[in-house]
Amino acid sequence: MMKEVDVCIIGGGVIGCSIAYELSKKGYKTAIYEKGKAGQQSSSAAAGLLGVQAEWDEYNPLFDLARESREMFPKLAEELRAVTGIDIGYEEKGIYKVAETDEELAQLEKTAAWQMGTGEPVQLMTKDELKEKEPLLSNSVLGGAYYPKDGHVIAPALAKAYEHAALLNGAKLFEHTAVDEVLMDNGKAAGVRANGEMIMCGKVIIAAGAWSTPFLKTFSPLSETYPVKGEMISVLSKEKLISKPLYKNGFYIVPKRGGRYLVGATVKERDFSKDVSLSGMMHLMETAKRILPAIAQADFENAWSGLRPQSAKGAPYMEEHSERKGLYACTGHFRNGILLSPASGKAMAELVVKESASIGR
Ligand SMILES: Cc1cc2nc3c(=O)[nH]c(=O)nc-3n(C[C@H](O)[C@H](O)[C@H](O)COP(=O)(O)OP(=O)(O)OC[C@H]3O[C@@H](n4cnc5c(N)ncnc54)[C@H](O)[C@@H]3O)c2cc1C
Repeated sequence: MMKEVDVCIIGGGVIGCSIAYELSKKGYKTAIYEKGKAGQQSSSAAAGLLGVQAEWDEYNPLFDLARESREMFPKLAEELRAVTGIDIGYEEKGIYKVAETDEELAQLEKTAAWQMGTGEPVQLMTKDELKEKEPLLSNSVLGGAYYPKDGHVIAPALAKAYEHAALLNGAKLFEHTAVDEVLMDNGKAAGVRANGEMIMCGKVIIAAGAWSTPFLKTFSPLSETYPVKGEMISVLSKEKLISKPLYKNGFYIVPKRGGRYLVGATVKERDFSKDVSLSGMMHLMETAKRILPAIAQADFENAWSGLRPQSAKGAPYMEEHSERKGLYACTGHFRNGILLSPASGKAMAELVVKESASIGR
């Protein structure tokens, strides 16, 4: 059968588009199939935190991949701007993790000890030291930790930039084109069936976020991704409220350009709906007000939700199928897909290239 492209990617979020960008830089003819519009699902809902140290209280193997990925952002931001003209809003000014109880303070100290052991800088801060940096913080905050290397980007801009950069390098994007099936030939991936049409290619990469389960079942019956819905609010303030993101147990307030502050995010497992609940909004604003009372004076701008793709094993699937050659999965990045997108794109492109070199593409 004639191949139309080298690689078909199922899903046009940050993960699929980052892989497409990396593969297209290496000269691979790549096609992204996207059931809706590229980058409009979880990838555009995200706060864009690059919170390597803010996210992991305990050591986890993903921490190393996350560090590697975070290190890639300064160069990536320049590269994407040069290729596409899109500014991904990369800021490496650090993140404050705040504590409101003695237990939380003790946890920050424990986290600081092992993270500094890995060579990552952490500055533990007293209440007064924090208030000196962020004067509008509430008295409920007893202290915190400052992670100077963590940062953030504008998630929708990152998604757009990967997509444009991949297309400018020759990748093709087919929107409103849902993949129904991965085609096999003699035990090898041979293409996809999308919107009833067969597209032949030597390799297929599953990057369909929370919708990946039907494609993952051949890897193992236990493999799945499922949605963990998160709701977010954005508010606008003329007064500068904070200079850096504040983070606490999955809750955050992230200052963006133009006086915008993102407040997130709720957590609801296995909910594919995209509506925004009043109870979710109230919970977010009550927490925000408790930590940063002045935020109550800001103007409401927007509210939305997105579906974090969680995996059954609690870490992303980033591998080739053990029996079906040429079929790969790169999905299940849960709450860190923006952060992990550069390293995931690079790792998957390297895997594809390595495999192609051994069998010929
Ligand atoms: C509220 C919220 C806040 C977040 N904050 C952060 C953060 O601060 N930092 C961070 O690192 N991460 C954050 N995340 C997580 C991050 O957004 C995700 O991990 C990341 O976007 C996953 O990217 P993806 O490409 O795998 O998934 P998605 O962006 O969901 O993309 C998957 C794509 O596949 C498409 N698709 C599905 N099935 C098919 C099919 N059959 N055929 C064709 N296309 C298909 C979908 O339409 C979708 O566009 C947040 C997520 C949420 C919801």
